[in-house]
Amino acid sequence: MHKYMKRTSLRFEKAIAALLLIGLIGVSCKKDDDGDNTPQQTTENSANKQPLGTSANELLSADEFTSLRVELAYPDGFRPTQETIDLIDDFLEARLDKPDGITIVENRIEPTQTPPYTINEIVAIEDENRTVFNNGDEIGVYIFFSDGNSSSNSGSSVVLGTAYRNTSMVIYEKTFMDLADQSPTGINRTLIETSTLRHEFGHIFGLVNIGTPLTSDHEDPDNNRHCVVEDCLMYFQTVTNIFNSSSLSTIPDFDELCIADLQANGGL
Ligand SMILES: [Zn+2]
Ligand SMILES: [Zn+2]
Repeated sequence: MHKYMKRTSLRFEKAIAALLLIGLIGVSCKKDDDGDNTPQQTTENSANKQPLGTSANELLSADEFTSLRVELAYPDGFRPTQETIDLIDDFLEARLDKPDGITIVENRIEPTQTPPYTINEIVAIEDENRTVFNNGDEIGVYIFFSDGNSSSNSGSSVVLGTAYRNTSMVIYEKTFMDLADQSPTGINRTLIETSTLRHEFGHIFGLVNIGTPLTSDHEDPDNNRHCVVEDCLMYFQTVTNIFNSSSLSTIPDFDELCIADLQANGGL
């Protein structure tokens, strides 16, 4: 029997045609329909194979780990934009107490699974390819930029990203490329990549109420693990203007309630 664990996914749920008319892209995040859990657990590097949210304090504070190493794993052709990669560091530095620094490494991989991917296959790809794990005072995070869509996609509802373990997430790069192909005016990939990445990082930081305790009553009762504040990064549905392509300032950030939670759990 497999052990199962929590995960949470960011979804895109508006018809593309309608979006083009109003010039907005809507992304929303909710649990997948096929249960609350993903398989896990081999003994090797087991500290990095724990349920979502359980390393929130280890990521946020300097108590256990004083530095962070982030692995960006992607097949040929699915590297995120350089701008997305450049933006990761500042975002993490602003919230994580890592006095010995944050390092980002890239890993070109060749998944043997066939897309679209179930979350079990996403886990298998990690288990076959991940190279960065907790090591001494350094905590490791793995991000897979996927060459396949999620098998949970249906109709106009597509999954953009999923945080599925304590230090693991998948970003469905293939889906961003498909959305860009379907948009006559193009989609700013950096905008949607970075918005999705930051939202999923929020989940592995324990937001909302999945490993980082609430300091105020702001968990959305209708969308667990998300924030009730509409312009917060952790709102279940994030709206970004895809046509204002020069403006990365439209990427949502944590609101003050989420920041208060992170700070109370050791973050900056
Ligand atoms: Zn979410
Ligand atoms: Zn919030």
